[in-house]
Amino acid sequence: STGLMAGKRGLIMGLANDKSIAWGIAKALADHGAEMAFSYQGEALKKRVEPLAASIGTPLLFECDVASEESMDALFAGLKAEWGTIDFVVHAIGFSDKNELRGRYVDTTRQNFLMTMDISVYSFTAICQRAAAMMPAGGSLLTLTYYGAEKVMPHYNVMGLAKAALESSVKYIAEDLGKDGIRVNAISAGPIKTLAASGIGDFRYIMKWNELNSPLRRNVTQEEVGKAALYLLSDLGSGTTGENLHVDAGYHVVGMKAVDAPDI
Ligand code: NAD
Repeated sequence: STGLMAGKRGLIMGLANDKSIAWGIAKALADHGAEMAFSYQGEALKKRVEPLAASIGTPLLFECDVASEESMDALFAGLKAEWGTIDFVVHAIGFSDKNELRGRYVDTTRQNFLMTMDISVYSFTAICQRAAAMMPAGGSLLTLTYYGAEKVMPHYNVMGLAKAALESSVKYIAEDLGKDGIRVNAISAGPIKTLAASGIGDFRYIMKWNELNSPLRRNVTQEEVGKAALYLLSDLGSGTTGENLHVDAGYHVVGMKAVDAPDI
């Protein structure tokens, strides 16, 4: 450990199990000396999150549903009581009705469109508001996005629109909070097998396609996303804000499948 995060305290949101991207990030930060609190959605997840938190010596755990202003207020009141100030927040949260993560985007319903935007986009803004109030000496805020924001990906549908709005919000919030020394960035992760991903139609095919067609000819791991998060959340990233850092084995630069890739 190089202690890149020594003396830094922060919140990790979106830990569901040991496959979560939030877990890959938490492990990288723990290896570098960060002190962390975790929030999880609903009591049902508590029994999964508790042992994970304990394994990296994290005593602070909060229940938080980002659909609720009161729930987010209670989370930040709890953090304030415990620590006073924070240095970073990781927002690894997204949600849509899985019935709409297949078939055609054009068939999306108003109700699921609004819910998807609320949980997957607005929640990051709501969290940034509350986090910034606890960052008098500056800080770093991070969210997770996907290439389906930039280009049409099969089955990503309404979540693609949500990620496009999320990426845009990263730029606006970076400008709003930059003068206070607060950096705001996104990581655009390649496909990784997680609970959320399992709701997406044909996800195994998407992973295979990325493996065969990305410049590195493989998929990325949650540990690799963790290392990129370490850069953005530590002093290594001090000059970077408003960025969308792709950790996708290079898939986003490819315009056409290379001749050496076997047919799939
Ligand atoms: P995951 O299922 O492990 O994590 C998703 C988390 O969102 C869960 O912990 C869930 O409890 C939380 N969540 C959903 N609704 C919530 C609410 N109302 N309040 C609080 N929490 C809520 O899956 P993951 O793949 O680790 O997802 C983390 C982030 O990474 C998401 O934003 C996802 O879109 C993004 N992402 C995932 C991939 C991938 O392939 N897995 C690729 C790029 C981006």
